Amino acid sequence: MKETLGFQTEVSQLLQLMIHSLYSNREIFLRELVSNASDACDKLRFEAIDQPGLFEGDAELGIRIEVDQAARTITISDNGIGMSRDEVIANLGTIARSGTREFFSKLSGDQARDAQLIGQFGVGFYSSFIVADRVTVLTRRAGAPAAEGVRWESEGTGEFTVEQLERPARGTEVILHLRPAAEGEDAASADDLLSAWRLKSIVRRYSDHISLPILMRKEQWNQEKGEQETLDEWETVNQASALWARPKSEITEEQYAAFYQHIAHDGGEPLAYTHNRVEGRSEYTQLLFVPSKAPFDLYDRQHRHGIKLYVRRVFIMDDAEQLLPSYLRFVRGVVDSADLPLNVSREILQESRDVKAIREGCTRRVLGMLEDLAENQADKYATFWKEFGQVLKEGLGEDMGNAERISKLLRFASSASDDDAQSVSLADYAARMKEGQAAIYYVTGDTPAAARNSPHLEVFRKKGVEVLLLTDRVDEWMLSFLHEFDGKPLVSVARGGLDLGALEDEAEKEEAARVADEFKDLVERVRGALGDRVKEVRITSRLTDSPACLVSDEGDISGHLERMLRQAGH
Ligand code: ADP
Ligand code: MG
Repeated sequence: MKETLGFQTEVSQLLQLMIHSLYSNREIFLRELVSNASDACDKLRFEAIDQPGLFEGDAELGIRIEVDQAARTITISDNGIGMSRDEVIANLGTIARSGTREFFSKLSGDQARDAQLIGQFGVGFYSSFIVADRVTVLTRRAGAPAAEGVRWESEGTGEFTVEQLERPARGTEVILHLRPAAEGEDAASADDLLSAWRLKSIVRRYSDHISLPILMRKEQWNQEKGEQETLDEWETVNQASALWARPKSEITEEQYAAFYQHIAHDGGEPLAYTHNRVEGRSEYTQLLFVPSKAPFDLYDRQHRHGIKLYVRRVFIMDDAEQLLPSYLRFVRGVVDSADLPLNVSREILQESRDVKAIREGCTRRVLGMLEDLAENQADKYATFWKEFGQVLKEGLGEDMGNAERISKLLRFASSASDDDAQSVSLADYAARMKEGQAAIYYVTGDTPAAARNSPHLEVFRKKGVEVLLLTDRVDEWMLSFLHEFDGKPLVSVARGGLDLGALEDEAEKEEAARVADEFKDLVERVRGALGDRVKEVRITSRLTDSPACLVSDEGDISGHLERMLRQAGH
């Protein structure tokens, strides 16, 4: 029985957008479909650890690509996990990924910008419709009876059909019926995808790192007919070995980038990566990337952790959150352990000493990679900081052992520059400290402009002392962990008993004492008028333009934090 179902509204919108804005980059459909086929084989291999029967006697996993010039179709098939009817409807009818709503809210209608956004979002299965005006999917889940095969078909407009079919072969076959040349487009260029030679070159460009063999039919020049003929034999088109297991010297930057795009589901380039084989008590290979853009779900509770765990080349799980602390959740990559058992579960991961060693090792590597960027590639570090700096700050509370390394990676806006960009490190600040200055001064506020205009800054401006402007939401929280840097305490300019120490000369101190005496009566009157609403009223020399300001007492929460808490309903 054939059933017609409607796409989730977002899918229809996404399809429209994708077909129009990504056509010029249309060969990416192949990368997406090959990537799905590879994921499906990984999933099967993992489920088969406990249920070897799922292999149905065929454990040689692979991906096949075939072209039919007469029918104008390209078929991508795999013998992976396959899908049940319900899975087909859920996976190929909706977009399940979190962040979809944010994605749609960010669309601007500007093609170039939106295309970039889609790239970042990862286009997935629906990219088939960039090149095809009809897509047929035949699939059967591993372990299910042949009678439970499913046929899905859609023209990529509003709806799709599903029907049951007899399907002896396990796994999934995606058949793309290519669009005819658009009006005004020359047929040869529209049909270039029907050339096996062209497809092979696309596979090598985007999917070479896939660890399974990608097979295509061999071709041979037929002298008599004067044309290329397709043979019955298959050949492996890609390198088909796990990229992370190859020696670094044999991997090009393009291959690293393509691999990143595959595992991170991200169309963009990685900002940096680190690739190492670790030997010793725990033996593993790590290939870790820092993306150049923050994903939409970075602050979601359900965010993906982005590290794939392999054990001796066998895929074990996605999102292995045990392998990196939460403040490094933006890192994407692969860890391949030589020691863990194949049937390792999330529960075991939590307890394992090997995992603890891996986690510490990965953390060190990532921090090292960031330090290297900060030192040698300032532009890239600035990008990193803009995208992920706020998350990194969480590390001060979460990872005390590395707090010092993390504090060196922090960047702040500062009163020393008119620019609001966060670019000053604590070490930069310390190097510029005035003679006699004993502390690192900061002011908190909602925005850099508000922080700059704080009356508390007046005396610092007068004395030419730099003040860091802390305006991110996490900053107050961060300050409860960041008390000092390199032996110098961090001090809020809004503290009551602010002691500028040696920055004040003798004459100023005497003057302050004289003024305090002169205005004793005034202070008494103000104290009487304000009553219980303040703890204390004091004469100050810290203001140059404003008549008065509020300060908080040593040990009390800051005014800024108090306002934030009040806003949050505390
Ligand atoms: P993503 O791969 O990022 O999850 P896709 O749009 O590429 O998003 O695919 C959506 C889902 O459809 C996949 O998560 C998977 O569950 C399912 N799927 C796609 N292709 C296959 C396939 N060849 N075999 C099994 N499942 C597949
Ligand atoms: Mg995919």
